[in-house]
Amino acid sequence: MMKYSFLFLSAMLFLSASAQEPQTVITFQVGKFTVSVLSEGGGQGNSGLLKGATPEQLKKYLPNGTFPLETQVFLVRTPDKNIMIDAGHGKNLFKNLQTLGLGENQIQIILLTHLHGDHIGGLLRDGKKAFPNAEVYISQKEYDYWLNLGEKGAAARNVFDAYKDKIHLFEPVEAEKQTKDLLPGVKAIAAYGHTPGHTAYLLQSDDVKWLIWGDLTHSMPIQMPCPQVALSFDVDAEKAIQSRKYLLDYVLKNRIIAGGMHVPFPAVGTVSKGKTEGYAFAPICLCEGI
Ligand SMILES: [Zn+2]
Repeated sequence: MMKYSFLFLSAMLFLSASAQEPQTVITFQVGKFTVSVLSEGGGQGNSGLLKGATPEQLKKYLPNGTFPLETQVFLVRTPDKNIMIDAGHGKNLFKNLQTLGLGENQIQIILLTHLHGDHIGGLLRDGKKAFPNAEVYISQKEYDYWLNLGEKGAAARNVFDAYKDKIHLFEPVEAEKQTKDLLPGVKAIAAYGHTPGHTAYLLQSDDVKWLIWGDLTHSMPIQMPCPQVALSFDVDAEKAIQSRKYLLDYVLKNRIIAGGMHVPFPAVGTVSKGKTEGYAFAPICLCEGI
């Protein structure tokens, strides 16, 4: 089996799993970027949330009928900007930022994967913007979807109103055809299906790459070996399945570090071929004092 590149290994050696940090924050060095995973916590998801799993698959991969379902926010500190990717429920977010010595007014950029409540809940406080200096980036397709969704889009439209002059709309690119950066070292990658404009973000610094894949997966124990299993909240399940397979192949083939908003903490790892089917995810090990 092909080994990960030297650059990939060096990224892992620079992990700083500081003992002083509480369990809800972990920080990694990726080239010139300092990337933190901020946990919003979570619980157990029920197999009733899944679509398209056979009874045999459920029995094999989710014998208790449940799976860990957590929510993460990612923070990327570049040499000149603090970039937050999604805002979670807003549950532990402000405390976690404080742990890193950051106030809300020090976040200059917020990139959104999509606009479900568990990703935009931290953007408002008492109906006002919680991050007064942030420019907010949303894919055009995602913005249009929520703008025209009627009553179900109300929470998203409150965000649009609060941040109105700070919203930037963009067109994500296909992973294999990526050309331009959305921001220096950050590409917006199309991952449509879970929602119409669902976007993943590819970080690159010093040739180390990390894909933050948003809601490409919700139930790691079953959707890695069986990526054809969808979620009842997927707006377009077929498209979500296509995106999942495409991007899992992409990170596997290119040896890219991967992480996602509903991958259990620390939510970072590597993708390989599954032993019997589909894919497997190996979380980065935090137990060796690296
Ligand atoms: Zn979500």
